[in-house]
This record gives sequence, structure tokens and C-alpha cells, in this order.
Amino acid sequence: MTLVAFIGLGKMGHGMAGRYLDAGFKVAVWNRSKAKAEDLIARGARWAASPADAAAEADAVVTMVADDEASRRVWLGQDGAAAAMTRGALAIECSTVSYQHALDMARELRSRGLIYIDCPVTGLPEAAAAGKLTLLVGAEPADLEKVRPYLAPLCSTIRHFGAVGTGTVFKLINNLLGAVQIASLAEGVAIAEQAGLDMKLVAEALSTGAVASPQVVRHSKRMVARDFSGASFTSALRHKDAAYAVALAETLLPGVPVSRAALAAYDKAKAHAADGDEGQMIEFVSQPK
Ligand code: NAP
Repeated sequence: MTLVAFIGLGKMGHGMAGRYLDAGFKVAVWNRSKAKAEDLIARGARWAASPADAAAEADAVVTMVADDEASRRVWLGQDGAAAAMTRGALAIECSTVSYQHALDMARELRSRGLIYIDCPVTGLPEAAAAGKLTLLVGAEPADLEKVRPYLAPLCSTIRHFGAVGTGTVFKLINNLLGAVQIASLAEGVAIAEQAGLDMKLVAEALSTGAVASPQVVRHSKRMVARDFSGASFTSALRHKDAAYAVALAETLLPGVPVSRAALAAYDKAKAHAADGDEGQMIEFVSQPK
């Protein structure tokens, strides 16, 4: 039976690891805090004492952790996965990391004879648990063919952008656009409130009109109602993605003022409630002068 090591059992990773169990893979799991693994262990996953322990003998190692720092720690830190993996094993980075980090990891892991692909995802935790994510892949074509059987349980769509790092480039652009939309939505909602508009009507009009992107649809009613129950994507994660995207932009373009403004908005949102919902910036944007 094929062995998958799954590392990082947060809101996204927990459901993704469960998909491998559902699909009949042998699964070893590791998470910084063990409590999140308990029900997966009850369903048949093996608890590993470290990323290295999870990765030993694995055909594929999948990581879904917060950021560059966490990714480096689980791949290359003390008891990291890479040192334990056998040559030719597959290293699948699903975490949203920076472009430079994806390139660094590819270089480091390839030097150990491993196959590394960047495979950030779009979709909320419910999509992760249902195997309906969209995967944004950067990989050599031959490597993608090798990893496909390990991607299948996770997704409904695979978008292959090119060589390693390109999946991450697209993911960062995608999430930067999300940051811009949510930050500008918060300002629009706050202006409408200050102008005394009927906010039920505003929410309805925003979510059905020409600016009704999925982000606007998702966040307009929540912002108007100040209802952030069921938070799935935090201000800290949105800030991280916007920061990585702006860092990438700085290497390619002379000026990205809108992107920088969105990042500045998320600097404040992170300071306000890092672990709160990414739409909670309405709580401080709406404070009158
Ligand atoms: P989350 O619930 O906050 O989980 C973060 C995971 O990273 C946890 O397993 C956490 O361990 C681990 N972690 C954090 N710092 C670590 C460190 N220094 N060393 C080892 N492990 C560490 O976040 P999530 O929503 O699942 O997001 C995971 C990744 O998916 C992020 O890169 C995010 O940007 C991306 N993403 C999220 C969504 C979404 O809707 N939530 C959608 C698409 C992509 P503990 O459990 O011990 O804290």
C-alpha cells in the first residue's frame, strides 16, 4: 500500500489528510500540536513523533503549514522530513509560501535526490475536506505525472502553470487580488454606513451587481452584519500572502501602489485581530474620525 506522510493539520491540512485515508492510502501524520490529529489517528492514521518520523519510507510527503518559516522547519529543521526521505520520493508543498522560498526548497530538496513541486491551493476548508480544491502547480511535466496519483484525492481541478515556483506565483497574485478586493470592500461598506444608506439594501446590491466577485459576495453581508462566525481564513494569513506577493512584485515591477495599499490595510488588520476573520477589518475601518 502506498504511504503518504501528511504534515500540518490545521483548518486545511486536517481535511486534506482525511482525504488520503478516504482514498485508501496508508497515512502517517505529524502536527506541531498533537490534539488536531486525534480523530485522524482514530480513523487509521499513524501518529509520527516528528516530520522525519512521518517521512521515513513515505512515497510522498505533503506539507500544509502556515508560512515560509513553518515550511522550512518541517522540511529542513531538526527532525525535518527531507533528511528521512528516500531518494526519488515526492515532496509536495501545498502551503502558501513565498516565491523565493519555493525556489530555495526546490534547490535544497533536489540536491538530496528528491522531487519537489509547489502546489498551493484555492478553496476553503470545506473544499479541502471534500477533495474539491483547485491545485496551482509548479513542476516539471515529468514530475507532475509522478505526483498526479497523490494530487487526485485532494482536488477537482489541477492548473499547471509551468516550472517549480510558478504555481506559487499565481497563488500569490490570486490572494493579492483578494486582499485588494476585501480591503476596498471594507472601505465601501464603511462609507455607505457613514452616508446613512440602508445597509441591507447595500449588501444585497453589492453581492448581485457588477462588482460581485466571490470575495465581495462572501464578505459583504458578513461585514454589514459584523458576523464573522465560521472564520476560515485569518487576517494573519491574508497579510502573509499579500506581503509575499508584494515582495515578488518588487522584483518585477517598478511600482504597485494598489498592492502596497492592500498590504498596508492588512498590516492594520493583523494588528487588530491576527487570528480573526480576514473581513474583520471593517471593525476599525468603520470608526468615524
Ligand atoms: P491554520 O489552521 O492556522 O494551520 C496552520 C498549520 O501550520 C497548523 O498545522 C500549524 O500547527 C502549522 N504551523 C504554524 N507554524 C508552525 C511552525 N513554526 N512549525 C510547524 N508547524 C507550524 O492555517 P490553514 O488555514 O490550515 O492554512 C494552511 C496553509 O494553507 C497556509 O499556507 C494558508 O495560507 C493556506 N491556505 C488556507 C486557506 C484557508 O481557507 N484557510 C485556503 C487556501 C490556502 P499548529 O496546529 O500546531 O498550530
